[in-house]
Amino acid sequence: MAKNNYHTHTERCKHASGSDEAFVLSAIKAGIQELGFSDHTPWNYAPSTYKGSNVRMFLDEFAGYKQSILALKEKYKDQISIKLGLEVEYFPKFMDWFIDFIKKEEIDYVILGNHFHGDDETGPYYGHVCDDDAMLELYKQDTIKALKTGIYSYLAHPDLFMRGRKHFDAFTKKISREICEACKEMDIPLEYNLAGAEVSHITHQQQYPHPDFWQIAAEVGNKAIIGCDAHNNRQLENEYYYNQAKAHLDTLGMEVIDTINFLR
Ligand SMILES: [Zn+2]
Ligand SMILES: [Zn+2]
Repeated sequence: MAKNNYHTHTERCKHASGSDEAFVLSAIKAGIQELGFSDHTPWNYAPSTYKGSNVRMFLDEFAGYKQSILALKEKYKDQISIKLGLEVEYFPKFMDWFIDFIKKEEIDYVILGNHFHGDDETGPYYGHVCDDDAMLELYKQDTIKALKTGIYSYLAHPDLFMRGRKHFDAFTKKISREICEACKEMDIPLEYNLAGAEVSHITHQQQYPHPDFWQIAAEVGNKAIIGCDAHNNRQLENEYYYNQAKAHLDTLGMEVIDTINFLR
C-alpha cells in the first residue's frame, strides 16, 4: 500500500504551522508518494460583514495558496506527486458559488470536513454540540446532503461528533450506521483521522476515531483511508499514529485504500 496523504493544512488556516515547503520536505522524508494539500476552504462571505475567522484562509489568500502549491509541485516533481485540494464544509447558500470556484481554479479534489452547520459565522461547531441528539441528527443530514453533491472525494473524520458526545449510546449507533450506509451506497471512503487519534492519545479521552464507530463501519463494509490531517509538517513524519491506525483497520478487516477519485 502506498503511503499517500490527502489531508494537509497550511499556515493560512491560522491554526497550523510550518511553511508549505516544510510540509513537502517532511512528506518526502516520511516516504509519502502523493501529498494532497487540503487547507480549509475560503468562502465568498460578504467582505463588509465578514469578521474573519481562525479556521480558514480569506478568499483573497487563495491565489497565494494555489500559486505556492503549484510551484512546489513543479519543484519537487521528481520526488513526490503533489495535488491541490481543499477541505470543505457543506454551506448550502454558498454551494453554487463553490462549485463554479473549484472548476475555475482547477482544484484536483475536495474532501468533506463537516465542521459547522450553516456557516462558520453563525452555525455551531459540530465537534462541540453533538451531545444533543437533535444536533447529531443535523450532522448526519448535512453530511449526507453534502455527499449527494458528488464533489467530495471522501468524508474526513466521519465521527467528529465524538469530540463532544459523552456516550456512544443507541442513538449514536443508529446515526453512525446511517452515515456509514449512505457512504457505502455512494462509494465514499471514510477517513481514519490521525490528528484525532493524537488528541485522544494525549488527552486520554476517546474522541475520534472512535472504536465503536469503526466497528459499525466494518460491519457495513465501508472503505477506509488514513488521513494525517497535518496542521504541522512534523505530523507527516510521525509513524506511531499511522501504524496504530493501520493495525486497527486490519484488525477490523476493513478495505484500506491509498488513493482517491480526483475532479480532473
Ligand atoms: Zn484545521
Ligand atoms: Zn483538516
